[in-house]
Amino acid sequence: MTGIDDLPVRDELRGKSPYGAPQLDVPVRLNTNENPYPLPPALVERIAERVKEAARDLNRYPDRDAVELRTELAAYLSRTAGHEVSTANVWAANGSNEVLQQLLQTFGGPGRTAIGFEPSYSMHALISRGTGTGWISGPRSEDFTIDVAAACAVIAAEKPDVVFITSPNNPTGTAVGAETVLALHEAAQAAKPSMVVIDEAYGEFSHAPSLLPLIEGRPRLVLSRTMSKAFGAAGLRLGYLAADPAVVDAVQLVRLPYHLSSVTQATALAALEHTDTLLGYVEQLKTERDRLVSELRTIGYDVTASDANFIQFGRFEDAHAAWQAILDHGVLIRDNGVPGWLRVSVGTPAENDAFLEAVRRLHKEIT
Ligand code: PMP
Repeated sequence: MTGIDDLPVRDELRGKSPYGAPQLDVPVRLNTNENPYPLPPALVERIAERVKEAARDLNRYPDRDAVELRTELAAYLSRTAGHEVSTANVWAANGSNEVLQQLLQTFGGPGRTAIGFEPSYSMHALISRGTGTGWISGPRSEDFTIDVAAACAVIAAEKPDVVFITSPNNPTGTAVGAETVLALHEAAQAAKPSMVVIDEAYGEFSHAPSLLPLIEGRPRLVLSRTMSKAFGAAGLRLGYLAADPAVVDAVQLVRLPYHLSSVTQATALAALEHTDTLLGYVEQLKTERDRLVSELRTIGYDVTASDANFIQFGRFEDAHAAWQAILDHGVLIRDNGVPGWLRVSVGTPAENDAFLEAVRRLHKEIT
């Protein structure tokens, strides 16, 4: 049988595995940071209406610049993220992964490098590799916060072209303060100057306000967001960025023509009409997140402070064995390969209770 190694695959892809969490059929799935709440019926109806309208024109290419959608995303950010932005500041693509890919295609590439502070979202390294961008693994402190002095020292030494700051960070849940972002941004400007990308995929779940206002007057600072989490629309594939209009002009150099289908644009617009209901679910998830953190601590686990819709907890001598034991109790969570720690996504109250029951049993078994 022919294998990948028999094909002339690019050297940097040889021996690598594709990104992906196990998709197992178990009663409680809390492993991919999805929103557990299905879209409300009124929104499902509205999506059907808007998609029907779009279907009438499917013989035509979509609006290549997605102007109506970018205008509504800008209005959403202006209303909820503490800073006024306009259509010209916003760009959208198929999930924030595609936004990040476009940023790396534009500002990274062969002969260039990107840095992230790990453990963090592993796709930053993978998309870097896929775009021929060298990857630099930056440090994090013991408590998973970013050590500003250490981070700035690596930026000064390595002079990366792209700096990723994930806030709240995946898989640790750690938010990054504005002062830290500003210090790293300053170091990056002194070193190169380079682009700084704040990945705020979980921004709506944070106790802290969005870092969006920091883009003002900083044309090399980009904020990346997604409708996969807070909008409960992971299946939609809609991510977006906010930045100086020059960044929006620049990513258009690499985007495929008509990359965002009319159906995607129509669906995202329908979802944005129901923002208030969806943000109501976010509030419920934040309350459940805080409940899970305190219950996990009561049971006796260490928990990393979380500003996301997931929680990192431990510590386990053998995290993978603990992951398997929890799975054996019918609850699928995530082993991100951080030694000693596991990650659970916040589900519905009933799913969270099932998870708590499973980890209580595990805690009794191992202590
Ligand atoms: N950034 C972070 C930090 C994430 O955790 C994820 C999804 N797991 C993404 C970006 C990508 O999300 P999407 O492509 O669904 O917008």
